Amino acid sequence: MFSLCHRGYHLQPCDPPLRIHAPPLPVVHFLFANCPYEKERVAAVGKAGLFLKRAVARLATFPAWLTEASQRAVELSYLSGGKLWAVAFLTAQRRILYEGQTPAARHTNGGFWPTDSPLIFVLRRERFGEVFVHEMLHLLGVGVGFSDLAIKERPLCLAKGSVFRPQEAWVELQANLCLLPSGKQAKKKAMERLRTYVASRCRILLQAWGGQSGLCSLPTGSVHQDSDLFSYFFVRLALLLRLESSQQWDDAELLEPTTGATAWTALALKDLSSPTARVHAVLETEGEQHSWPASLAFTPPLSI
Ligand SMILES: [Zn+2]
Repeated sequence: MFSLCHRGYHLQPCDPPLRIHAPPLPVVHFLFANCPYEKERVAAVGKAGLFLKRAVARLATFPAWLTEASQRAVELSYLSGGKLWAVAFLTAQRRILYEGQTPAARHTNGGFWPTDSPLIFVLRRERFGEVFVHEMLHLLGVGVGFSDLAIKERPLCLAKGSVFRPQEAWVELQANLCLLPSGKQAKKKAMERLRTYVASRCRILLQAWGGQSGLCSLPTGSVHQDSDLFSYFFVRLALLLRLESSQQWDDAELLEPTTGATAWTALALKDLSSPTARVHAVLETEGEQHSWPASLAFTPPLSI
């Protein structure tokens, strides 16, 4: 047995080691920090395994894409003796933003993937499985190839100087699609719930920054991360609206990692290019839920 120390946390391999395997990906090993309860560790890994299998099943419907993702994972695993690693902190901290607080990373980040590494980090107990899949999709190469889009299709509603990273919204959309329930009606309902939630986050962020009307600009004083967070939700909303109107949940273009994804996202953003369309998308999509809550919880998965 050994223990590692990372930023004051003690990371311990499980005994027996917990790992999951979803062929054709390499085995994923888990390290846990500050989680003495075996039952909790086993449950977390079980959920991650189940969700990863569902993600691989979706990727497998597009064989070329799965092959590319698999090769990428295998190459990265060479850095670590043929293994992938998931470092799980399982903190109890939830993504709750209280009245008067400025939205920031601590309200949103669920995990991260250090670029080009064979490991991912999952920070919270909250939505462990969903965040695990989101970070694994980063590792597998989802969301690459958005650099041109970032310049050409930057939404007009973002403040000057804000960071626009549409790949984050794209990766989250893919994670959502991997975990949709089966059955057309159940999928439709799940997407409606998701879209309503994302629209409410857009509205609440605008409220937090004082940009209540028009949805055309954010206060210029917003820090980059805040603006980035709004763009994340705004692009997600555009993607969900386009997906709902097309109802092509399983369109191969939705998984194509470069040009298809970029073109698809650009079309989604064009749908919301007029101020009227943006107001409608954000305000009207919530139906009857027009009251602005004093606090909000970022409960669905959200990882940057
Ligand atoms: Zn991410």
